[in-house]
Amino acid sequence: MKQYETVIGLEVHVELDTKTKIFCSCSTAFGGEPNTHVCPVCTGMPGALPVLNQKVVEFAVAVGLALDCSITRYCKFDRKNYFYPDNPQNYQISQLYLPICRAGGVEIETEAGKKTVGIHEIHMEEDAGKLIHMEGENCSLVDYNRSGVPLLEIVTEPDMRTSMEVVAFLEKLRSMIQYLGASDCKLQEGSMRVDVNLSVREAGSTALGVRTEMKNLNSFRGISRAIEKETIRQIQLLESGRKVVQETRRWDDALEDSYVMRSKEDARDYRYFPEPDLPPVRVDEAWLKEIKARQPEFREEKRKRYRKDYGISDYDAGILTETKAMADVFEKAAALSKLPKKAANWLMGETLRLQKEHHMEAKELPFSPEHLAELVLLTESGAINSTVAKEVFEEMFLHDVDPGRYVEEKGLRTLGDEGELRDCIYRILEENPKSVRDYLNGKDRALGFLVGQTMKATKGQADPEKVQQLLKEILQK
Ligand code: ADP
Ligand code: MG
Ligand code: ZN
Repeated sequence: MKQYETVIGLEVHVELDTKTKIFCSCSTAFGGEPNTHVCPVCTGMPGALPVLNQKVVEFAVAVGLALDCSITRYCKFDRKNYFYPDNPQNYQISQLYLPICRAGGVEIETEAGKKTVGIHEIHMEEDAGKLIHMEGENCSLVDYNRSGVPLLEIVTEPDMRTSMEVVAFLEKLRSMIQYLGASDCKLQEGSMRVDVNLSVREAGSTALGVRTEMKNLNSFRGISRAIEKETIRQIQLLESGRKVVQETRRWDDALEDSYVMRSKEDARDYRYFPEPDLPPVRVDEAWLKEIKARQPEFREEKRKRYRKDYGISDYDAGILTETKAMADVFEKAAALSKLPKKAANWLMGETLRLQKEHHMEAKELPFSPEHLAELVLLTESGAINSTVAKEVFEEMFLHDVDPGRYVEEKGLRTLGDEGELRDCIYRILEENPKSVRDYLNGKDRALGFLVGQTMKATKGQADPEKVQQLLKEILQK
């Protein structure tokens, strides 16, 4: 068999996290009773006129800058004409001739090394409504709540060669968009949708082969499986002397296979023309500068900086930077407490554990960096022991309590006074003569029991190590 190479380019749709739709003031909130987030504009009523949401342009420019694109300073919208019941205008407002961003690139790293995936363009467009097919009934319903929700379409160059590269690219893209707050990019919920364009060619050839486009991919795993399957299908076609047909295929996650949806349409079929109801968009120097100034530090830079500034391992830095929310809390708590590693431990340990236990999203951090720093300092100074610290943290996590105040109110401070602790130990020894004898006869286990009794008597407020040390000292005499 000949050697083949897989060539992949992606079209990624991202639903933007604006409050209102792209051309009207209806809410973009997910869910809601069908057809309650609608108005004449997003249901295509005659005479209704679109007005562009400025925030959409800002997100598009911010994503474009993050992906190293050149920003089109004078861009336009176009009409893409087609009929479908979820598309009440009979056209979609999109961008064909002058998209907002072009010619960018994203550096990715896989086992095969580093490479740059080119970004062909990014354009702004509106989402369609949703058809609901009634099971067992001879009808379908349509919900226009999603009609007019803003989308960015990010189109890459055909620069990827393996599913590993595709996943690395998508992970990086998703992280940057999440850091920008532009979208939550959830594949399962459709706020990020990936179409995979794939062709194969003989190794060494530079010409592109005929491609297919796969849709309905809603997990990274599904994407990887779809790439493997389609690569094999195309190679088999070519090996048996047949041809790959340019078509759109639908991936079925349950069947782990794709099937033909429709033959491939191209731009000419849509009769695009400039949208007459919207003026061109100008991105002037001042606005561009403003958006640039707001760009956050992204995950990769943070990760490097954490290693350098805080001496944190790359693995840990990876966890701390997974969401911007976590990274923000970490950086503030580290600065306030001056104990970055201690702050990091709370975030990587208890925080993740409790988030999981309470089915919370990674970006939901229910406590402030100030409180985390306070807890770190209370523990570090010995004011509370580690068992108490865990309890305080959980209270802070679940009920947003102020750690200092909580410790005072509940009387959780470690027994600092050694005299008090000694008195307590003497009492315990008197109450447990048998354990004392056992210990003196060489049964080390008895010491553990006495430590336990002392901790109980102090309501857990003593430092167990200190108790053990004092016990030994007293028993020695
Ligand atoms: P269309 O807009 O008709 O879908 P484009 O030429 O804009 O087509 O390409 C869409 C996507 O397909 C891009 O991500 C591009 O990189 C990718 N692509 C184009 N040709 C090929 C090919 N022969 N093999 C793999 N991917 C391709
Ligand atoms: Mg396409
Ligand atoms: Zn509307």
